[in-house]
Amino acid sequence: MEITTNGMQLSINESTLGITMAANGAVWMTESSFRPHIAYQEETVYFDQAAQIRHERWQTGVGCGVISHYEGFSGAAQGLSFETIIWTETATGVIRCEWVPLSEGKNTVQAVYWPGPMAFEEPKSSWYTLLNWEQGIRIPNTWPVETVKLPFNGMLGTAGAYMPWFAQVKDGEGYLAIAETPWNAGYDIDHPADGPYTHMSIRWEPSLGHMNDRRVLQYRLLHSCDHNDICKAYRAYAKEKGLLRTLREKAAKTPSVDDLIGCCFVHTGIKTKVQPNSDFYDPAAPEKNDHLTPFAVRTAEVKQLHEAGVSKMYLHLDGWAEPGYDNQHPDYSPACEEAGGWSAMKELADTMHACGYLFGIHDQYRDYYRAAESFDENFACRLPDGSIPEHQRWAGGPQSYLCGTQAPYYVKRNFKAIEEAGIQLDGAYLDVFTCNEGDECDHPWHRMTRRDCYEYRNTCFEFLLSKNILPSSEEVNDWAIPSLVFCHYAPYDFMLAAPGSPKHGIALPLFNLVYHDCVIEPWMMDKVSEDDDYMLYALLNGGAPYLRRDAAYPNFDGAFDGAEKLQLEEDIQRCRLVSELHEKVAKAEMLRCELLAEDGSKQRTIFSDGTRVTVDFAQQTYQVEM
Ligand SMILES: [Zn+2]
Repeated sequence: MEITTNGMQLSINESTLGITMAANGAVWMTESSFRPHIAYQEETVYFDQAAQIRHERWQTGVGCGVISHYEGFSGAAQGLSFETIIWTETATGVIRCEWVPLSEGKNTVQAVYWPGPMAFEEPKSSWYTLLNWEQGIRIPNTWPVETVKLPFNGMLGTAGAYMPWFAQVKDGEGYLAIAETPWNAGYDIDHPADGPYTHMSIRWEPSLGHMNDRRVLQYRLLHSCDHNDICKAYRAYAKEKGLLRTLREKAAKTPSVDDLIGCCFVHTGIKTKVQPNSDFYDPAAPEKNDHLTPFAVRTAEVKQLHEAGVSKMYLHLDGWAEPGYDNQHPDYSPACEEAGGWSAMKELADTMHACGYLFGIHDQYRDYYRAAESFDENFACRLPDGSIPEHQRWAGGPQSYLCGTQAPYYVKRNFKAIEEAGIQLDGAYLDVFTCNEGDECDHPWHRMTRRDCYEYRNTCFEFLLSKNILPSSEEVNDWAIPSLVFCHYAPYDFMLAAPGSPKHGIALPLFNLVYHDCVIEPWMMDKVSEDDDYMLYALLNGGAPYLRRDAAYPNFDGAFDGAEKLQLEEDIQRCRLVSELHEKVAKAEMLRCELLAEDGSKQRTIFSDGTRVTVDFAQQTYQVEM
């Protein structure tokens, strides 16, 4: 069946169920070997196995297309029926592929794979795929390194997908695919070493064990475009959705946002206590499991940095409470006694303020430690089958996940205690919220979908804002932009792998092309080798610098031994360069990132205030034009 509207052709092949979209002479067809399917634990069921399939024309006041009805499945899918609607919106040209459940059948669906990947088979570097794996990556079809797996299995809303879209461009003709229902969805990629193809597709997963709501993937076809145009098309979408909240708007609501702009970041800690029942416990090296730095030592360090000429600084303090880093959350109080207790912590905060610095803590409202006094399995996330996910990966040992419905209560309780101790916080970091997937909970007292979970996480950020505490979390994500002010980092994926590891494509600031003026991102400043200096990425991105970053866990989260150790004066000087640029462009939109060399080794960003930053990674040089 074929529909033509506004010069765009849309068709569905009734025998293969393949979709074709064509506009401006460019044709996009789903890859020919792909068969739309549904995964069950027992077997895979294909759409074309339905006993009854009918396709009809779809026509409404806003667009037209094809509605297809599927029913009469056998095997694992017995009792399942659904419809798909593929239609073009007349006003915008947007194509929507909607999967609409009618009846679920008796078995639990694991995932629906539809629509399938577009055919993208040419061995040309001018054919490339954009993916929002952390800050962003562009994979030319000929790229030598394979990508078939993503962090969090490509689940949207995680570090594997800062934004819920992907795109492909072939010689300037592109499509942008946006998941309009991103909460229980992920993307899959298949790019073998050297290509020659890259296949990208969406996967819809159940919510609380059920596929009972509509899932929508939209396509926009772009003519004569590159990665910049695609990011700007998504920025327009984010604006329409109310997701775009700029730092200018955030500063109008919470003026201290302006104090954070221009800061360098110091990340350090007080107490480490790795429990013997933690996977991180190393019986051969007791000094790694247990150490403590008094608050007074940190206070002295702050004074030294002030004397050394650091003018604006934000301190992120780990392990400040009695249980130690990553222990006993959410019962994280009082301030560590052996390190000096509340009074010594207050002195650190007061010293920071006397220096004109900002002070914030590391905190955590997802990892729910069994060792916490208030731990109660009734408030741990419970899956629909009644099980409670658990592990003992981090320092505090066995844990499950605190149901997100409860997180705002614990935030309020804990921040009240800090306030009562007379400690004035400028910022706070709520760990993992913007890195790990949202949780679901099927406990009848507080049932929660993944979408709800993201809302509860934002509720925690909003509570902090109501107290004039700037909220931060591990990375960044689309869903958090309305409430998040800053983050721990928003790196390129390669920065979390050991230096020198093969790159999965050309690192590009796709996230910043959409959201640079909405969130403050500190960047690693390590000179990781003779020919790789991460400061260049900080400059290119118009971000903030890390002056010091003590890793909570060695060789983890992008902290690797072996980086060149510089003199403090040189570190301060490098930070000053980056901070001065950040101060200028923090509230400016990143308009473009141009590839000045095909392999990405030379790039230029252009900001809306006219600032241009050119970086040559091969020569290790940069130029800032204001
Ligand atoms: Zn719950």
